[in-house]
Amino acid sequence: MYCSQCGTDDVQRVEMTYMEGKQNIDTVSKTIGAGVGRSGGGTGVGLGGAKTNTSGTATTVLADSIAPPEEQPMGLKVLLVLGGIGLAMYGSRDSNMLLFGILLGGVSGYFLYKAIQYNWNVYPKLLKQWQKTWICKKCGHVFLPEG
Ligand SMILES: [Zn+2]
Repeated sequence: MYCSQCGTDDVQRVEMTYMEGKQNIDTVSKTIGAGVGRSGGGTGVGLGGAKTNTSGTATTVLADSIAPPEEQPMGLKVLLVLGGIGLAMYGSRDSNMLLFGILLGGVSGYFLYKAIQYNWNVYPKLLKQWQKTWICKKCGHVFLPEG
């Protein structure tokens, strides 16, 4: 696997990079400034310890920009739908409350439906694509392998 922009083989799945970044966030936060300066300069600095340190820090900085897609929360929407149904049933003798309950249930039901659709149809695709995405540790290029 090679970077499609700079040609180096120093590439990694964003998933791995993201996980590593999450683990490193606490320990290397102090050196982020230095790491950014160095990687921004674009020069390879030293060997061994220094190099490990630099890539670890760069990884941490990257972690936020390559975060995985997130599912849409559904808990509140479920509650609102149930609340709307409850209101409609409770207010079946009060036309205003009945109407409000139906409206609340209908509108939140619509948003719940959209969230379910997203979580079932869109989110898995985004997640799959994210898992297939690679990142170059030299130039930061994010790409999908061809084929
Ligand atoms: Zn590259």
